[in-house]
Amino acid sequence: LTSFTDEARIALDTLSGRASGLFAPSLRVGVTGLSRAGKTVFISAFVHNLVHGGRLPLFEAQKSGRIARAFLEEQPDDAVPRFQYEDHIDALVKARGWPESTRAISELRLTIEYESASGWGRMFSRGRLSVDIVDYPGEWLLDLPLLGKSYAEFSREAFELTELPVRAELSDAWRRLSATVDPGADADEMLARGLAESFTAYLRTCKLDERALSTLPPGRFLMPGDLDGSPALTFAPLPGLGDKRARSGSLHAMMERRYEAYKTYVVKPFFREHIARLDRQIVLIDAMQALNAGPGAMADLERALTEILACFRPGRGSFLTDWFSRRIDRILVAATKADHLHHESHDRLQAIVRRLADRAVKRANFSGATVDVLAMAAIRATCEGSVKHGRDTLPVIIGTPLKGERIGDETFDGETETAIFPGDLPAKVDMVFEQSDGKTQEEALRIVRFRPPKLERTAEGVTLSLPHIRLDRALQFLIGDHLA
Ligand code: GDP
Repeated sequence: LTSFTDEARIALDTLSGRASGLFAPSLRVGVTGLSRAGKTVFISAFVHNLVHGGRLPLFEAQKSGRIARAFLEEQPDDAVPRFQYEDHIDALVKARGWPESTRAISELRLTIEYESASGWGRMFSRGRLSVDIVDYPGEWLLDLPLLGKSYAEFSREAFELTELPVRAELSDAWRRLSATVDPGADADEMLARGLAESFTAYLRTCKLDERALSTLPPGRFLMPGDLDGSPALTFAPLPGLGDKRARSGSLHAMMERRYEAYKTYVVKPFFREHIARLDRQIVLIDAMQALNAGPGAMADLERALTEILACFRPGRGSFLTDWFSRRIDRILVAATKADHLHHESHDRLQAIVRRLADRAVKRANFSGATVDVLAMAAIRATCEGSVKHGRDTLPVIIGTPLKGERIGDETFDGETETAIFPGDLPAKVDMVFEQSDGKTQEEALRIVRFRPPKLERTAEGVTLSLPHIRLDRALQFLIGDHLA
């Protein structure tokens, strides 16, 4: 699968990466997750807390006062858009609104100057580490398995997935249109476009629908980046191909050629230029949304996570193994938005993520890297309290719901601070993975989106930083050992 030029280029990239590494140690940290998982918010909070000396008691270098300064520098890759950190912080801090979400790849270099923890290290000048943060849509990553699949296999699997109960109805229009098509008929641009649009609409409803499904390749159909409307994106699976070879000039041949072009011009370069050069990776998941949508969505999230992990540290025998120039040695699977739950449920959320990740690691033919899990809120938009309800005292979270958010009949105005009883996560992890019919509204979590918080004063009362839950644990795992 890997052509000679692919391998030669990877070797060159590795050499140049190593050479520059001799002068300024750098660590490439990938940040991914499906759309709206919280990537933009995570990176903004990560950088802001380091630059502004935020409260990070579990991030050892900061806690022990060894970080001299952290600042942004020019990024190493000129061809990759810069992560618009300043705009995102303006949105969060000045307007108290959420920033624009990730739509394509972007990068930011944060350089940290620190004192070494050992006396020996301190004798030689101050340490310096450049962290290159690479933000990219998880949807794009989920394309990597396509490299190992023929067009016929891709088509067969796409139709098999539509047979799952959660997807049957959502895919109905696309399947009915596909059933009217003869793959052996002459190629027709308008028909190809119609099929691609209908297929894309199905993928989009999977994502937007309250069922919150996760696995939806090809990723650029949902997150096209700058490829919108190009032929490499104008294809769709065709039904009933079996082992048939495509007749030249047929619709089948046209779709197959475009599928292969998508792999060659979109998926391979993305993998080679970005994924294969990462050292560390955080995968953000919106477990809360999936939990709320029920076991079907949880199973789908697990499938997506399995496929994502399989891309990072493929075990022996995987066609991806030869492609890596660096080896990702740590992966953090983190559920974001834990501030939507009372802290009593945080450990339960983490246990659920652990179960998801353990099963995904087992199924992913995965080897080597250390995988940890975390329930966190990169930005904490709520605080906690309790309210009396009859004789009971209920734990609540308090925040300002975004304008237009609703619970029952109540619609919020975006200005009023409100106490909300979010509901509990089940004590038994199994329950969230098991199909139980007749789930009542009372059992569902009450999730409303809150406005970002005001900045809080750090312990010293000097700087202002963004509040969070366990962001410091994430930092310690991802970069802490490089600041020793
Ligand atoms: P992306 O698509 O992965 O870049 O997702 P974003 O980072 O833009 O996050 C999507 C939305 O999730 C935001 O607009 C927020 O409403 C919400 N969100 C993300 N992270 C947090 C968090 O830590 N706390 C809270 N309360 N909401 C969050």
